Amino acid sequence: MAAQETVDHKYVYDFAEGNKELKDLLGGKGANLAEMTNLGLPVPPGFTITTEACKAYLATGREPDGLADQIEAHLEALEREMGRRLGDPGDPLLVSVRSGAKFSMPGMMETVLNVGLNDRSVVGLSAQAGGNDRFAWDSYRRLIQMFGKTVCEVPGEEFEHALDEVKRAKGTKNDLDLDADDLRGLVDAYKKIFAKHTGREFPQEPREQLDLAIRAVFESWNAERAVLYRRQERIPADLGTAVNVVSMVFGNLGPDSGTGVAFTRDPASGAQGIYGDYLANAQGEDVVAGIRNTVPLQELEQLDKKSYDELLDIMARLEGHYRDLCDIEFTIERGKLWMLQTRVGKRTAAAAFVIAGQLVDEGLIDLDEALHRVNGAQLAQLMFPRFRLDHEFQPVAKGIGASPGAASGKVVFTSARAVELAAEGEPVILVRRETNPDDLNGMIAAQGILTSRGGKTSHAAVVARGMGKTCVSGADELEVDVPAKRFTVGGQTVVEGDVVSIDGTTGKVYLGEVPVMPSEVVQYFEGSLDPERTDDPLVLAVHRIMTHADARRRLLVRTNADTGADAARARRFGAEGIGLCRTEHMFLGDRRELVERLILARTDDERESALAALLPLQRADFEEIFREMDGLPVTVRLIDPPLHEFLPPLEQLAVNVAVAQERGEDVAQEEALLAAVRRMHEENPMLGLRGVRLGLVIPGLFAMQVRAIAEAAVTVTRAGAVAKPEIMVPLVGAVQELETVRAEAEKIIAEVVGDSGVEVLIGTMIEVPRAALTAGQIAEAAQFFSFGTNDLTQMGWGFSRDDVEGAFFWRYLELGIFGISPFESIDRDGVGRLVRIAAEEGRAARPELKLGVCGEHGGDPDSVHFFHEVGLDYVSCSPFRVPVARLEAGRAVVETDGSDSR
Ligand code: PEP
Ligand code: MG
Repeated sequence: MAAQETVDHKYVYDFAEGNKELKDLLGGKGANLAEMTNLGLPVPPGFTITTEACKAYLATGREPDGLADQIEAHLEALEREMGRRLGDPGDPLLVSVRSGAKFSMPGMMETVLNVGLNDRSVVGLSAQAGGNDRFAWDSYRRLIQMFGKTVCEVPGEEFEHALDEVKRAKGTKNDLDLDADDLRGLVDAYKKIFAKHTGREFPQEPREQLDLAIRAVFESWNAERAVLYRRQERIPADLGTAVNVVSMVFGNLGPDSGTGVAFTRDPASGAQGIYGDYLANAQGEDVVAGIRNTVPLQELEQLDKKSYDELLDIMARLEGHYRDLCDIEFTIERGKLWMLQTRVGKRTAAAAFVIAGQLVDEGLIDLDEALHRVNGAQLAQLMFPRFRLDHEFQPVAKGIGASPGAASGKVVFTSARAVELAAEGEPVILVRRETNPDDLNGMIAAQGILTSRGGKTSHAAVVARGMGKTCVSGADELEVDVPAKRFTVGGQTVVEGDVVSIDGTTGKVYLGEVPVMPSEVVQYFEGSLDPERTDDPLVLAVHRIMTHADARRRLLVRTNADTGADAARARRFGAEGIGLCRTEHMFLGDRRELVERLILARTDDERESALAALLPLQRADFEEIFREMDGLPVTVRLIDPPLHEFLPPLEQLAVNVAVAQERGEDVAQEEALLAAVRRMHEENPMLGLRGVRLGLVIPGLFAMQVRAIAEAAVTVTRAGAVAKPEIMVPLVGAVQELETVRAEAEKIIAEVVGDSGVEVLIGTMIEVPRAALTAGQIAEAAQFFSFGTNDLTQMGWGFSRDDVEGAFFWRYLELGIFGISPFESIDRDGVGRLVRIAAEEGRAARPELKLGVCGEHGGDPDSVHFFHEVGLDYVSCSPFRVPVARLEAGRAVVETDGSDSR
């Protein structure tokens, strides 16, 4: 078709004019129809109206100048090519009007088929179809139905009811039993419905039908469901949709016609083969509506071998051309195959890896491209055990998917009970309103943690992620009553010992035991599944792509780990050091009594004796970790949280004291504790006496930790391993704070290390905005910075990390203030800017300054790309996210190098 453009701006493209690169302008469907046309594949001729025309229409409420003429010119060319005219009573051309945005938005926008039919051309259509009246009237009733519903907002059920009525009168449930007269009658009924709702007759003028349908597709971009879908999928709101006007081909002309969908590989597993469904004597919407059952595509071979062979041939060509899994829609009209759509198909996480690997083997893509085509979110999905939900299980509540995985077990409400039951070999789910450091043992013992309060950075969430343990937090439909050992949800009561199942990926909570499948990918990372000895295609693909990611990445990946066991596991997962060893849990459990002594000390002697008792315990902790991380750097952070977190809660203590006093017992010790808790009470503990402030206020506390670290390093080194300790000071906001701690630490280190050869670095977290803004000064006193992006986000936004996500983030997300919680993925513009400034100014002051990040963002795929861009040396994340960070660090290189050849 050669269409003459009459104005400067080109709004309409013939299929022969476009190509697959023009998705912005022609939408995905239009660009791919053009690509197939140019490949010489059988595509029904047509043209595409651009997204720019749509945007202009949406901005002004009317078609842009020149559009109508361009449509006319392209329509005339189409009519010439087809040898038929729209609306011709003797031999009409019919067209479909189909939406198609840059990104696929399945079913969100409109399509109208059979445009061009009216009371007169319906007769011509019948003649065209060899006197097939039934087909012609069926096509006409479909037009009125679709046009009425999508263009004029006539309630769809009314048409459905009228159709049911005719079928009932005929005594059938099958559309195919209706004859031409039935359908002619149905057209009359549909027209009445149309007139009743719109106050006008069904438009008989074909060009008016076409224009109204195009307008309806433009407008469907802003339909409520489309807006909602875009928000969920993070598709920009201002792209607009293209509109494809395609000459109709018919799959409903009889048994030698039909319609189907197919994938070039299995989108679930990636396996090669023929995957698709076919429905004879039907149009596309029948497949979607599930009116009749489809048959597997393979059966087409028996029905129509010629079309089947041609289809397979085209599928192979499309794969070779797109170098990827394609999905397609096709129609067969009386033995002639037509391609109605293709696109690079959606797939599961497993299929993404398997297909990327296969395409490398087939020489269609290189390893950089394979790396580009998978992502960390997919890898993370593959690492968690999954529920086998083929049984009928309905969730009873939905919270925040705080730490992924699938876990089932008996409900317990206290840490102690969790430990008890777990010791008997029972899987348990620890249920709390929220957790605190005292729950640690219970959390370790449990299969999963379920809380009714708190967000993704609540204690439960952060600790669970650190352990790779399943956690659902903030399931606020649960009324948790810990003293009564029960919770209620949706009118049901669950008591201790009942079994529940929680899905930490979706946040769903189920009653009863849902069966679980283990992840072979984790077995591979842990070393129990050898890639040399398996033929599991997923494991082989993951191994290959991970190896390439490691070869490509510049960022190192460390882990956040506070125990030898976590450190060892992270090392197996590929961690290249510890970026954050939090020391606070080392003050709990049976050491609590020593900590109380420290806090309650009235004299220097009392305090020093408590610290002296803690020293060997801490030293043993560090020795274990240094041994596990032999040869790799270990960043140990000095104690961070406020000390009163290590004392019993105020209310509980007050009650205990009152009760004991009532009984006349000796409560001197409890009273002293209570007084200490009252003295230390803070309105805003997150902004209070914690981190470096604590080290400066409690004499000897940091010194004890520094000594324990240095002594442990010397012991491990003398035993033949290599310890590389890095001491990190938390919550520094001013260089003077760091200088003071450092002066004392250096003295101790020099004294302990002697000639052992151990080198101890001293650095700081950058987690207070002031530290980021004075990084040039702070770098003078620091050998490394590690960005604590949890606190930096908390203090940068003024969002309390433990409260806001569960409290009101839903509203912020709904309003689009941010697309994702800034605690989950780094806020590049604000908090990210603080990171950038600190990195630049820190390095300017001290070029060899080592830079890393140890906040939760260190394992978030998008944030890893940001940290790569900013030029950090490493990211540090929980052990289970180490492989994800490795993969994304590799992808970041491939993407910044621009190796994207898609
Ligand atoms: C941080 O603030 O990002 C951090 C790693 O420290 P924590 O989460 O222990 O406060
Ligand atoms: Mg912090």
